[in-house]
Amino acid sequence: MNHFRQIAEKLADWELDAMMLTAAPNRLYAAGFRSSAGMVLVTRQSAWFFTDSRYIEAAQDAIQDAGVRLVDGAHSYTALAREVIEADGVARLGFEDDRMSVASYEAYRKAFPCELVGAGARMDELRMVKDAEEIEKLLASQKIAEAAFTELLGEIRPGVTERQLAAKLDYLMLTHGAEKPSFDTIVASGTNGSKPHAVPSDKPVEAGEFITFDFGAMKDGYCSDTTRTVAVGFVTEEMRKVYDTVLQAQLAGIAAAKAGVTGRQVDGAARDYITAAGYGEYFGHGFGHGLGIEVHEAPTAAPSYDRPLPAGAVISAEPGIYLPGKLGVRIEDVLILTEEGSRDITGLSKELLIL
Ligand code: ZN
Ligand code: ZN
Repeated sequence: MNHFRQIAEKLADWELDAMMLTAAPNRLYAAGFRSSAGMVLVTRQSAWFFTDSRYIEAAQDAIQDAGVRLVDGAHSYTALAREVIEADGVARLGFEDDRMSVASYEAYRKAFPCELVGAGARMDELRMVKDAEEIEKLLASQKIAEAAFTELLGEIRPGVTERQLAAKLDYLMLTHGAEKPSFDTIVASGTNGSKPHAVPSDKPVEAGEFITFDFGAMKDGYCSDTTRTVAVGFVTEEMRKVYDTVLQAQLAGIAAAKAGVTGRQVDGAARDYITAAGYGEYFGHGFGHGLGIEVHEAPTAAPSYDRPLPAGAVISAEPGIYLPGKLGVRIEDVLILTEEGSRDITGLSKELLIL
């Protein structure tokens, strides 16, 4: 799977003659090939992938619909790109102004006989809407993470540490077919749960605590992202109230999520519910974020996002309540936005689970 054609078709709209991609996520999107080094160049006439000897054989085997050329001592990235820029008459070359270092920008600017035009946001917009093949990959990564978590549930008991649970969950995702976890797994129990991005510690979990698991699998380069909060032994009335509030807020956000509404509106539906329940100041982050090749990408369902969300965008739905020094609850599903509403691709139950 590659997206050279989709990029080429956008160039006229973007008022560019070509797009140069050096950042790994955009290269993977364009070429369908993962490597630590490389350059994609898409002009109105041709498409290219340049890489070094470590990847050249695999790139030549895997990449279709583009010329693949070797970068070596005699042929630098700059020299290869310049050849294409001259051959295809490129006057305006888009680059990733949101991802490129200043030093690289300066080097390209001096070397190329054309104008460099910041176009990173254009790539974000293009990647925001997922096609059928990308959805398949997202579903596959989601299934792996869910199978792993379901198996992990049997391991949760007083005395086991957060770090042991995180290690086991990572192991289970890999044995179920993940290439790797899509981000550092979060396991936060008891008072650690009030820190939304807590790092798993050697703290053993205890009866009467919540444990928040935030985890994802990467498969074929696409990420899943899921959060479930479970309880150990028993729950207090307050714990049940917080859990129910987060769940109802998430359902309100999901009900509001559809193509054409803004990220702020989706966030607001969940936030209003939490605020009305008296926990407004304890929901500090946004309702959701886009995901795909990257675990955080455009668009965003947060108060700052005033633009309408497009059909085909994939966003998380993850409100939380975090009571400092006490506890935290977050529940996260992943939604594919449609004209009518959304499709929730997370299959795990959201009933309060007391283990
Ligand atoms: Zn997450
Ligand atoms: Zn997330």
